[in-house]
Amino acid sequence: MIPYGRQDVSDKDIAAVLEVLQSDFLTQGPAVPRFEAAAKAQCNVDYAIAVNSATSALHIACMALDLGPGDILWTVPNTFVASANVGIYCGADVDFVDTDPDTYCMSVAALEEKLTQAERDGKLPKVLVPVHFAGQSCDMRAIAALAGKFDIRIIEDASHAIGANYLGQPVGDCAYSDICVFSFHPVKIITTGEGGLATTKDPKLASRMELHRSHGVTRDPALMDQASEGGWYYQMVDLGYNYRMTEMQAALGVTQFERLSEFVDRRNALALEYDRKLADLPVTCPVQNPDSRSAFHLYPILVDNRAEVFARLRENGIGVNVHYIPVHTQPFWRARGFAQGDFPQSEAYYARAISIPLYFGLTEEAQDQVVSEIGRAVSF
Ligand SMILES: *Cc1c(COP(=O)(O)O)cnc(C)c1O
Repeated sequence: MIPYGRQDVSDKDIAAVLEVLQSDFLTQGPAVPRFEAAAKAQCNVDYAIAVNSATSALHIACMALDLGPGDILWTVPNTFVASANVGIYCGADVDFVDTDPDTYCMSVAALEEKLTQAERDGKLPKVLVPVHFAGQSCDMRAIAALAGKFDIRIIEDASHAIGANYLGQPVGDCAYSDICVFSFHPVKIITTGEGGLATTKDPKLASRMELHRSHGVTRDPALMDQASEGGWYYQMVDLGYNYRMTEMQAALGVTQFERLSEFVDRRNALALEYDRKLADLPVTCPVQNPDSRSAFHLYPILVDNRAEVFARLRENGIGVNVHYIPVHTQPFWRARGFAQGDFPQSEAYYARAISIPLYFGLTEEAQDQVVSEIGRAVSF
């Protein structure tokens, strides 16, 4: 089976992890700060907080922005469930903005319309979570301009998009957001096994995220409400979690970061090849916004008779997948009042979408096999 995505682990990656295992620190040592430094350099940003998953990063990002009961978080239906779940973790309400029919990212027009309505109803969100779907940045300039009118904070869910650019700058620089979040799950662009990261330009947000990553416990006298009682002293100043990344994960991340541009270049080259090789078939290839250079986490195509095409591809050794079942149609969200039909663009996209294999190690022969099987499946 040719999978839809997979990691690429080198001898250097393996050596880096082994070195940690033989060192003094398996957690809370020097590798996590090294990983964070690599992320700051990549993203051209002042603060980076590494955690054990992107879900944790989204959670501490929401906490840092004080999202809580009575507040509202908006994201898109075309995303992994975690982008919405973190609102519920904080006790907030969650709603969705429909996606753009070309980029499958948050629709600026839908956002504008929904904001106008929400202002009228007194139901404006506190936090907006646009998702850089498939690795392509949302139209952040327009989204930030709209959010700014209502003082809405922005967390970019860039789980797909480490190594992507927007308007010539790296995704993660927070030029149009408060916080940007990445995932390092093995199917994503670079991996730490499980792992995530939040970047920000704001020292206060960075400090709050650091606190919530580790139990709300601090050894920083500036954050305490009384003088230190001695060298052992710490205080728990807020309720936090254990969302720390291990040293093994961080060491893997450091050497993976060294190959990020190689990974993203290869994914872009493979995507261009797909554009070319699929051009004569009755499938719709993903549209690229000229403002963005995608990291190409995914290559979603649209086909008619999706269920049959999907089944035929799987039967013939092509490990296709579907991203995403619209979040609002999941039973958990239907029980909270959402229904089929609420977000027609995300639903129409989902009805025809298939993610085809795209990863660093995908060979030319394997890609040709994928294309030829798609040709057979759609003309069956
Ligand atoms: C993968 C993913 C997440 C969650 O990432 P984890 O690191 O697995 O927690 C969140 N949002 C999106 C869009 C994702 O693709």
